[in-house]
Amino acid sequence: MPRLTSRAPGAATAAPLIPARPTWARVKEAAAGCRACPLWERGTQTVFGEGSRHPAALFIGEQPGNEEDLAGRPFVGPAGRLFDRALAEAGIDRAQTYVTNVVKHFKWEPRGKRRIHAKPNAGEVRACRPWLEAEILVLKPRLLVCLGATAAQSVIGKDFRVTRQRGEVVPSLVGPLATATVHPSSILRAPDDAARREEMRRFVEDLARIRRFLEPT
Ligand code: SF4
Repeated sequence: MPRLTSRAPGAATAAPLIPARPTWARVKEAAAGCRACPLWERGTQTVFGEGSRHPAALFIGEQPGNEEDLAGRPFVGPAGRLFDRALAEAGIDRAQTYVTNVVKHFKWEPRGKRRIHAKPNAGEVRACRPWLEAEILVLKPRLLVCLGATAAQSVIGKDFRVTRQRGEVVPSLVGPLATATVHPSSILRAPDDAARREEMRRFVEDLARIRRFLEPT
């Protein structure tokens, strides 16, 4: 049977595809057929967010990677495994969180037999943003945690710099308060073991600060 698709020919964004009475399940189902930007042709499938339906913190990365694209689940590749370790070290239960991406299809370039990550452009981020906004609307997290510059600039603003402002809790463009830290993939790209350990230590420290922020007072 042919796959149902949510077409929005010529649409600049996925906004026309958001269900009128959105629930998490309805939004996820609609996103599965999204063709609002050209990335649907390159990725295997839409990789929607997953996790708690009542998350205190909603973590936002850039886009699914190779393993996520094949599995159809976010944060299950090498960066996701590092993220799980860091959450555990910071005392955060991943089951209590929700993870997603600003762009929900894998953008890649061929290099030999490998598919290499390619950064989504501003138009693709803008096209996909309604899915993220719908996730935030139905899940009502207390804090958005941007992982890396693409998420931070989409959710907090173009002038936000993760290098200077990581860990600050600031207003977001999409409702709840937000903060930002590095994307776990940047830790994997550290030049040597010592740098990787130091980056991991700082990442866990940021996550522990987020846990303390979310603790009931
Ligand atoms: S990347 Fe986002 S906007 Fe583009 S086709 Fe995929 S789900 Fe739709």
